Amino acid sequence: MEKINFTSVKNNRMETKTKTGLKGGEFIIKESNAQDIFIPEEFNEEQQMMIATARDFLTKEVNSIHDRIDAQEPGLMVSLLDKAGELGLLGIAVPEEFGGLGKDFLTGMLITEVLGAGHSFSVSMAAHTGIGTLPILYFGTKAQKDKYLPLLANGKWKASYCLTEPGSGSDALAAKTKAVLSDDKKFYILNGQKMWITNAGFADLFIVFAQVDGDKFTGFIIEKTAPGLSLGEEEHKMGIKGSSTRQVFFSDCKVPVENVLGEIGKGHLIAFNILNIGRAKLAAATLGGCKKVCSLSISYANQREQFKLPISKFGAIRHKLAEQAIKTFVLESALYRVSSMIDDKEKEMLAAGMDFSRSLLKAAEEYAVECAILKVAGSETLDFVVDEGVQVYGGYGYSSEFPMDRAYRDSRINRIFEGTNEINRLLVVDMILKRAMKGELDLMTAATNVQKELMGIPEFSNGNNELFTAEKKAITEMKKAILMVAGAAVQKFMMTLAKEQEILMNIADMAIDIFLSESVMLRVQKLVDPQGEPSCATKLDMMRVFISNANERVAFNGRTAINSFAEGDEQRMMLLGLKRFTKYGPINTKEARRRIAKELIDANEYCF
Ligand SMILES: Cc1cc2nc3c(=O)[nH]c(=O)nc-3n(C[C@H](O)[C@H](O)[C@H](O)COP(=O)(O)OP(=O)(O)OC[C@H]3O[C@@H](n4cnc5c(N)ncnc54)[C@H](O)[C@@H]3O)c2cc1C
Repeated sequence: MEKINFTSVKNNRMETKTKTGLKGGEFIIKESNAQDIFIPEEFNEEQQMMIATARDFLTKEVNSIHDRIDAQEPGLMVSLLDKAGELGLLGIAVPEEFGGLGKDFLTGMLITEVLGAGHSFSVSMAAHTGIGTLPILYFGTKAQKDKYLPLLANGKWKASYCLTEPGSGSDALAAKTKAVLSDDKKFYILNGQKMWITNAGFADLFIVFAQVDGDKFTGFIIEKTAPGLSLGEEEHKMGIKGSSTRQVFFSDCKVPVENVLGEIGKGHLIAFNILNIGRAKLAAATLGGCKKVCSLSISYANQREQFKLPISKFGAIRHKLAEQAIKTFVLESALYRVSSMIDDKEKEMLAAGMDFSRSLLKAAEEYAVECAILKVAGSETLDFVVDEGVQVYGGYGYSSEFPMDRAYRDSRINRIFEGTNEINRLLVVDMILKRAMKGELDLMTAATNVQKELMGIPEFSNGNNELFTAEKKAITEMKKAILMVAGAAVQKFMMTLAKEQEILMNIADMAIDIFLSESVMLRVQKLVDPQGEPSCATKLDMMRVFISNANERVAFNGRTAINSFAEGDEQRMMLLGLKRFTKYGPINTKEARRRIAKELIDANEYCF
């Protein structure tokens, strides 16, 4: 295979770009236009070519040797990363001046999706290209970039990222590793310990966070040859067994002062900003996994016979196949909607004169709420899809001779790293409320309008019967539901709302369902427009089934929250309001799922 040469792909988004004009978190209070979002059906021919190259690499180099990878055969992961590096796959996001391909964010996400189906290899690669490389790309000095980025982009050096410690995971800033300036002021001397470090076993370079002078959280670039750096044994893990995960120890480890990353005391900016991008990328990787497991489930169901029939003939199995595909399709809709929002924002800031290293970070920061939503949605969609995959395979799903066993075990980590899903749910609500307090998001007016509407006479009309009228209404109404619940919770608890995590989880789940529902609706709407002809009937079915279920979940989460803090007339009024705001359907989801499953079964693979 030859190194990728896709220079003509570079500015693809410039040609097709449309602006959403939507700021981060604003989806809660504003409507979006289908024509303003990017949908995966719009990837161009050259991007399809990149997909083919990445897929070809996985098929030829990775897919047939998962057992050997999981056994951590010495040197195997390193040689796979070397090959990926030779093809240019490790330098997609690295600018050409530093030896990468210099592709835009959207293209990078597409390749992450494709390579996301590679189990442990995907994790090692993502740790290298993401949290391992990006801190230098976005926070490094010119000298640091010149020295390290070419080596990382071509894969000669492998990178890892050391934030977590035995005593500090979610509370990452409570890290205890210390860094003290040497007497001659030429080195920082690090002492401490990091835990769960992906790629540690073979990394040439470690991005490390430590407290300077006790409390100045700071990033460092540490080479593996640094005196005083040593590794623990490989962890024995539930899944992603082929990825190296070890502790990293620093015992009077000498790091030259020129290897401080960013500013002293500003390590949190590196850690948190990189996480925003990492969360979106994790969702892309999970999407790749979902599509693969959907295809495996469909082809197995077609070929496995019980009661003299392929099990794909049974309604219970069809339901599973359809549901796997619906959730995957919805995740994809949200993923590329957000990716293009970030991409557009980045390009807008570049055009306004902001330098390369700040523009993507700023863009990802702007859409940090959406990145957290994607992380939760991606990891939980994949968990759902693999769980049903095991069920479709029956006993063979439980056998390590068959692929579902690995898929099931490897999926689980995604809910834990890049910020656990609990932390990401908390962040979704916290960031939205903070934006409102800063005046960046006018939640107050929107919530007050909903309260006024609640006092008024309900509007019973369902509008006309045109395509999407019911879905648009359902989404507008679900937004009213979350504004009503969140607004009342803020009023009730004020500054102590942060302690009411159960309510915050309900609100986050409402936000996630609303964002996903809107994303799939806009995508399908764009596919149907401008002729107004439903040339994609199955996708309409997928949209309707998802919105129907999301609507019920929004009602459930809203009710749970209201019942936990409201009483008497207020409670009654809000519950009535919630009922009013969550009235979509009825949809015959059984028939819709049957139609979806039929298309999957006929194609014998995921085909949307
Ligand atoms: C295989 C693997 C690879 C990893 N790779 C890396 C890596 O390369 N680099 C790196 O730095 N780290 C890595 N990690 C660490 C990972 O990021 C952490 O495990 C994760 O952030 C969670 O931290 P923790 O394990 O300490 O759990 P804890 O923070 O102790 O959390 C335990 C539970 O409590 C919940 N919880 C914690 N705080 C709160 C709160 N305030 N409110 C509500 N619930 C809360 C969590 O959601 C979780 O359910 C990896 C971990 C694993 C398992």
